[in-house]
Amino acid sequence: MDEIESLKKAEVIAVDRVHVFIICPHCGMIHLHGSTRNNTLDEYGSRVPHCIPKDVVDGDTLSLVQYDLITTPDTIRSDDELTTKKLKLNERQLRMRQSIFQRIADERKRISDDKILNAVRELALRGSKPDLWRIKIYSGEPHGKVKDWLHEHGIWYSSYDRKGWYIEHPDKATSELITIFSVKE
Ligand SMILES: [Zn+2]
Repeated sequence: MDEIESLKKAEVIAVDRVHVFIICPHCGMIHLHGSTRNNTLDEYGSRVPHCIPKDVVDGDTLSLVQYDLITTPDTIRSDDELTTKKLKLNERQLRMRQSIFQRIADERKRISDDKILNAVRELALRGSKPDLWRIKIYSGEPHGKVKDWLHEHGIWYSSYDRKGWYIEHPDKATSELITIFSVKE
């Protein structure tokens, strides 16, 4: 299942006569939709998730964000009214949810990493050697994230004679970063 496909299916954890409870493929949270008083269906049609702001959802994006509510053999079908609090996810559902959270975290990190790399490039273009504080200001990313990014790319602060950020582990750096930061001698 590719990424777009997996975003189009929302697993129904439980259904009562009022609500369908689903795990949102976009945010991993449990959302409620109307069940039209029927708790026996296999599918509950296409819906737009509540976690995406209404003004973001228009004609073009609608088909990307809306999902199909699909039941599984694990779906709880109840005649009594359920609440999100009372629902207990099974092992598989918890793992699925964990992978959604992981995907969100990976995506955030990718965006943050891009901002940091762009800031490094901009500083290099201006002829100034990038340091943590300038990268932080140019990228808008927090101090800790910039520092982690530098270390992940083999760049460490040298406090000896040539103070500044240098490539300490060239195996972790790209040739572009080696040119910008230069390898510590
Ligand atoms: Zn959601």
